[in-house]
This record gives sequence, structure tokens and C-alpha cells, in this order.
Amino acid sequence: MKIAIVGSGIGGLIAAAYFATNGHDVHIFEQYHRLGGVLAPYESKGYKWDLGQLLIEGLGQGEPSGDVLQELGVFKKGFSVLKDDRRYVFPDFSIDKPEEYQGPRWRIEKLKELFPEDAKGLDKYYKYYTRLIELLTIGYRLGWSKGLKAFLWKVVLYAKLLPLIPKSKWSAKRMMDYFFTSKKLKCVFISILADFFTQPSNFLGLGVFALNPEPSFDKRMPAHINRLAQQFYHYSIPGGISMMVDALEKVITDSGGKIHLNSLVTQIHVKDNSATGITINEADNLDFDLVIANGGAREIFYDVISRDYLTPEFIEHLDTLPLMDGVFMVHLGLDYDPSPLTGGVCTYYYNTYDFEDGIALAKAGEYHGGKEGFVTHVPTTHTPSMAPANHYAMTVYTICPDILQEGSWESVKERYTDVLIAYLEEKVPGISEHIVMRTVMTPDDFKQRLHVKHFAFGGLAPEIGKSGIPFITCIENLYYVGAQSQTGGGINRIITETANLTKKLLENLQ
Ligand SMILES: Cc1cc2nc3c(=O)[nH]c(=O)nc-3n(C[C@H](O)[C@H](O)[C@H](O)COP(=O)(O)OP(=O)(O)OC[C@H]3O[C@@H](n4cnc5c(N)ncnc54)[C@H](O)[C@@H]3O)c2cc1C
Repeated sequence: MKIAIVGSGIGGLIAAAYFATNGHDVHIFEQYHRLGGVLAPYESKGYKWDLGQLLIEGLGQGEPSGDVLQELGVFKKGFSVLKDDRRYVFPDFSIDKPEEYQGPRWRIEKLKELFPEDAKGLDKYYKYYTRLIELLTIGYRLGWSKGLKAFLWKVVLYAKLLPLIPKSKWSAKRMMDYFFTSKKLKCVFISILADFFTQPSNFLGLGVFALNPEPSFDKRMPAHINRLAQQFYHYSIPGGISMMVDALEKVITDSGGKIHLNSLVTQIHVKDNSATGITINEADNLDFDLVIANGGAREIFYDVISRDYLTPEFIEHLDTLPLMDGVFMVHLGLDYDPSPLTGGVCTYYYNTYDFEDGIALAKAGEYHGGKEGFVTHVPTTHTPSMAPANHYAMTVYTICPDILQEGSWESVKERYTDVLIAYLEEKVPGISEHIVMRTVMTPDDFKQRLHVKHFAFGGLAPEIGKSGIPFITCIENLYYVGAQSQTGGGINRIITETANLTKKLLENLQ
């Protein structure tokens, strides 16, 4: 079969790799001059920074994405992973992993010391956390099982799910209120929602447990809490995330797949409600049996296809699709290693305990400039060669509105870079003197890179009751994958669920 992949984000690449390794004639069309979407790196003057990942969940063997990459042979193409962990710093306390490992519950015990009034709630939280991890583990094993084994896993799954059903519709805010009294403690578990542009009152409560896997704060924790509960680790990628893109590219091209860069798909042809081909750069028309589209949903369906071919329900879904906003990202070159001061590869600095209002303001176009918090990522902790000799690379980013209430990103970007560095200096004193280069990326830069009108940095905003665009679209032979699809954003989910989709399509093609 002749298959067109429109866009080379991780969703497009995973689909392409499965089709190519199964003998199909695969062509990837990417409008940018590099593959990978937000996984393509940013490089300048001997430095290399990552954009669309900091730490990725589940990349090890026996873990969801790791098993997909293993199945595709990606690990044999010069790609490796490294367990890593993240650090949280709040306005008046931080959660630092102890120098000497203190067991799988050290974080819970440390929080009990900090918030003794909520000690019972923390024990209860850990019980629920364990159950949720059991459910995720069972769901994962179910996905790889067939026949009687699959049936038995389903029975266990429903039995474990039953006690959680009464709380299945609770919001994250309600869930936190159920466990804890301290506003600060609640923030330990929901602060990450700022990165999702989703207010705690609008995010599914049970999702909070999945967003806070304990080993992501200390990689020394064991994978298994009990026989049924496997916690997944977070990973850095030596050489940067583009190593994954390079390895996938090798898998695809070694199997005969073709890559077409600088190739903007300006039209997806539809005949009798079926996708039949594409137009490249408004010039070349090519026929295909199957089209897999990646990239911004509204841009693909409204601009590249046309409303004329969509059902009213599909248009309604697109019009009401909740999207995240952007990031303001400053890449720094440093003449010293900041990681002893930031406390590792990836640190979340929060300057607020009010995430409900903070997220609402960002969505309304107000930019805090770093006042409410920022994230630091130091890739040279795992790969010194991502900077020139004796130098270090660091990215500092905040979430930000896609469009500012006042002014343009172009007119304010240098001023906001100074502001963000001043906030960074408060947390990492002395760092300003070590900055030898800086370069900034605003949502406008990402829009150009990704060919989108709205830069949604993690794709779909995971609001209660809303879902992404389904893989199976209202047009035959056209499938849609990526961060605005039913998977939502995040590399782990996109890899695993796109793999499931593609394997099903391959079965049907046989
Ligand atoms: C700053 C940042 C930090 C993140 N941190 C993490 C993290 O720590 N962990 C994690 O799991 N995830 C993280 N993510 C999210 C994750 O990286 C993304 O959800 C994921 O990579 C998006 O993949 P995608 O398949 O949707 O494609 P995208 O990366 O959005 O790429 C789509 C591609 O399609 C191309 N394209 C679009 N339209 C056309 C067209 N008409 N013709 C040809 N080509 C086209 C674009 O040029 C682009 O290359 C982060 C993202 C960002 C930006």
C-alpha cells in the first residue's frame, strides 16, 4: 500500500515506522527542514537544546513506550535512555531527594513532616496512588495479552476499578480537598497542571495520581510497589530527544520509507468521502491509498482539507477542541555547570500556590514573565557534548499565552528574557555572570516551525468531559495522530496509542 504521512511529529514517525517495517510504501512529508516536530532540537554556536521534552515517561524495557521502540528496533539504531528524576521547589519549601536513599515512601514521609496536620490524608493518598498504579499496570498488561489471558486481566481490572467508580468524575480540586487541608500540600500534587493549561477544578481527579509517579522524583525507587503495581520511570535521552528522531528515521529509511523535507502538504484530496492523495507546496499532486495526518487539528482539517468534506459533528468537535497555550523559552549557554545549584537535570520552580487563578490569567492572555514560576532543564548533565568544551547548556521556560492581551511577542521578547533571567537569578544566585549566550523562542517562533496558527505546547488541554480528535476521522482512509488527537499530548501516550492504532490498521490490511 502507498501511504502518505503528513507531518513528522512523533505521532507521524511512529505510524510511519510500523507501516515501513511491515513492507508498505511509506512517504513522510514534512514542511520544516528537519524531522521531528517539537522533537527537532534547537542548535546554535555549538550548543544543542531540546524543545519538546524534558523527561519522558516509560521508555525503559518492560515499560509502555520502551516496548514499542524495542519492537520497532529503535534501540539498535544508536538510541539509548537514562533514568532520571525531577525536583520541585515551592515558595517556602522544596522536595529534595535525600543523599542516601530512604525507601519508596520517603517523599510521603517527608511531606508528613512538613504537613503533620495531613499525615492521615497522605497515607490515604498513597493507598489510592497504589490502586491507580495497579490499574495502569493491569491495563498495560491487558494491551499485550490475547484470548483467555486478556479476559482474566479484564476481570481483575474491573475488580480493582470498582472502589474508585464513585470518585471517577471528581475534579482534581475536589480530590485534593478530600485528602488534604493544607493548600500548600495540595499544590505539591497539582502544580504540574499549570503545564497542562488546565485548572484543578477542570481536570479529572484520578489523573492526579498518574501525573505524580513517585519514581519521577527519585529514580532509586523500585519499579514494583506490589506484584500488580509497576511504577514507570522517567528518562533523559543522551544526546537529546533528536536521537530518538534520528533512530526512527533510520528504522523507516532502512525499510525503504522515503522522507520529503521542506514539503508542505497544501491539500489532502478527498473523493467520494475518501482520502485519495495530496498536493505538495501547491504544485505536485500525488496519489495515495492511505493518509495519516499529524500537526494542528484545525489547520489540517480546515485549511488542508476543507470544511466541505467534514460532518457537522466533526466541525463541532474541532471548534470546541480545548487547546493548551504556549511556552516562552530561553536557551542559555553558560561557562559553568548550574546543575549542582538547580539540583539536577530538571527543576520546577513555583512561586505561587494559586494555580486556579494563575492558569485562568494565562488563558486570558496575561503573561506573568516568570513571576509565578519557571522550569529549568540542563541537558549537559547527561550529555556534556550538547555544549562546547567547558561550557553548559540550559533551557528556562514558562508557560505563556499564545497571544498576548497587549503587544506582540516580537516587541516584548527581549524585555521578557531579562525579566525571566532576573527571576532565575533569585533562585540560582550568580548565574547571570555565567551567561555567555542567550536565545529566545516565543509562541510565534514555534508557530513558524510547526506551521500552526495556534501554538498548543502540549496539544489538547485535558479538560473534564472533552476529548481530542479521534484517530478515525469522518473521511475514509484518513487517520489523525498526535498531541491534538484522542491521545492528547505527551510522548509516552502518543507513542503507545499510535502504535496500537497502526497495528490494528496493519491487521485489517492483511
Ligand atoms: C516545551 C515542551 C516541553 C514538553 N515536555 C514534555 C515532556 O517532558 N514529556 C512529554 O512526554 N512531552 C512533552 N512535551 C509534549 C510532546 O513533546 C508533544 O506532545 C509531542 O512531541 C507532539 O507530537 P506530535 O506528534 O503531535 O507532533 P508535533 O511535534 O506537533 O509535530 C507536527 C509536525 O507536523 C508538521 N506539519 C504540520 N502541518 C504540516 C503540513 N501541512 N505539511 C507538512 N508538515 C506539516 C510540523 O512541521 C511538525 O513537524 C513537551 C512539549 C513542549 C513544546
